[in-house]
Amino acid sequence: MDVLLAHSFFLKNDPKQGEKMRPYPPLGTLYAASFLREKGYDIGLFDAMLAAGVDEFEALLESARPRFLIVYEDQFNFLNKMCLLHSRDAACRMARLARDRGCTVIAAGSDVSDHPEIYLRHGAHFGIVGESEHALGELIDSLTGRIPVPVESISGLSMLDPGCPGEVRRNEARTPERHPDVFPFPAWDLLDAESYRRVWVAAHGYFSVNMVSTRGCPFHCNWCAKPIWGQRYAMRSPANVAQEMALVKASIKPDHIWFADDIFGLQPKWVVEFAQEVEVRQASVPFMIQSRADLMTEKAVNALARAGCTEVWIGAESGSQKILDAMDKGIQVEQIVSARERLKATGIRACYFVQFGYPGESFDDILATAELIRNTRPDEIGVSVSNPLPGTKFYQMVGAQLGEKDHWQDSDDLAMMFEGTYTTEFYRKIYKLVHTELELIKRGASTAELDEVVVAWRELRESESGYRSSRPTFVEKYYPTVSAPDLSKRWN
Ligand code: SF4
Repeated sequence: MDVLLAHSFFLKNDPKQGEKMRPYPPLGTLYAASFLREKGYDIGLFDAMLAAGVDEFEALLESARPRFLIVYEDQFNFLNKMCLLHSRDAACRMARLARDRGCTVIAAGSDVSDHPEIYLRHGAHFGIVGESEHALGELIDSLTGRIPVPVESISGLSMLDPGCPGEVRRNEARTPERHPDVFPFPAWDLLDAESYRRVWVAAHGYFSVNMVSTRGCPFHCNWCAKPIWGQRYAMRSPANVAQEMALVKASIKPDHIWFADDIFGLQPKWVVEFAQEVEVRQASVPFMIQSRADLMTEKAVNALARAGCTEVWIGAESGSQKILDAMDKGIQVEQIVSARERLKATGIRACYFVQFGYPGESFDDILATAELIRNTRPDEIGVSVSNPLPGTKFYQMVGAQLGEKDHWQDSDDLAMMFEGTYTTEFYRKIYKLVHTELELIKRGASTAELDEVVVAWRELRESESGYRSSRPTFVEKYYPTVSAPDLSKRWN
């Protein structure tokens, strides 16, 4: 074997995801595998997702004896944006094990792009910063002597500087590919799809896999991490995506597809063409996307329904316009309401991502979010606390408070990592309350039951001062004279 590709997200190391039990194949890793295979290299895959542990990787390393190990985080999964410590630790262990066996080790992904030094000091010879396929291809061509270019001239690479021990040398940054159709489809054949199917069917009664139609996102939400593509984005052609969908439908036979794009359907015209291409190929598989309320135009929603979309997760974030503006979200609360109505009219489930705890959020803002949920009745909500993700404006603002705790051990998404208005305990109460209220509404609970929720909200309001953070909040500390609505202006 020339190249072993591996990733380091072991589901068993993440209790929260283990509970959800929705394991998705490492799509980014499969893309890199097919790209290198198309260049003529003999490729193997270690898929950590359902594996027992690093020992299993070590056994494969021992038997396959690859010349190169690429520890490749799946860049299309939000979990990798969180840069989980268990995943980083496993990647470093795997890199060291391979290096000790004489492999050349290359690390790639979001965390590597942010912190190549960590991987380079723990066994990796090279770190890829940014989009990886082209850089990987050129690097392996160079190291095998196939194309005699010095590694120093390959853009997007980082390595320890031989001239300054311990220091990292970064080559010129690489511009992401503008035409992602040039990439071959992910190496689905390397995946043990039946293991995924068994787990999914046992937990949920159906089997879902992932695809992507875009890379990157052009919007500016100031808490959103974009370590690979920055503000750039590129779209596959509608025909190319539909063609892969048909292939996945025929070969993997999933019951459902999750489009893992940051934002699916950045242009309504693209969605209309995609629906046509899917229909022509009879490629439709029920699918779920993530999008924005302002993209849910009538044209786009109708085309989504035609293509087989059954569920849209909207980054609603907050029911308070003040907080949406502070986040640079570029969305009006009314647009969320309209998107929900349009989706409902076409029978597509509308689900909201909501976050609490953004700097400057008051109890009234929290109530505005609860009211948005109550009035528009999304089919589901995903609630988190505002996460300062590395590389974001938000992270820079609260970075001083993070100290040692600047990464998540696992994906338990309700732990406050900075000094917000309230404590983690308070946000956990909010989490329970909004979920309980929505569940009661959805199952047509009696007035008496709903009255209990009203009482719970009232009690929470009365006790909120008891949950205030003990230290000065971010706003009080850094912007003592500025009222919260003005914060967004300061950040621009
Ligand atoms: S729209 Fe979504 S992916 Fe794009 S910047 Fe905002 S949060 Fe990030």
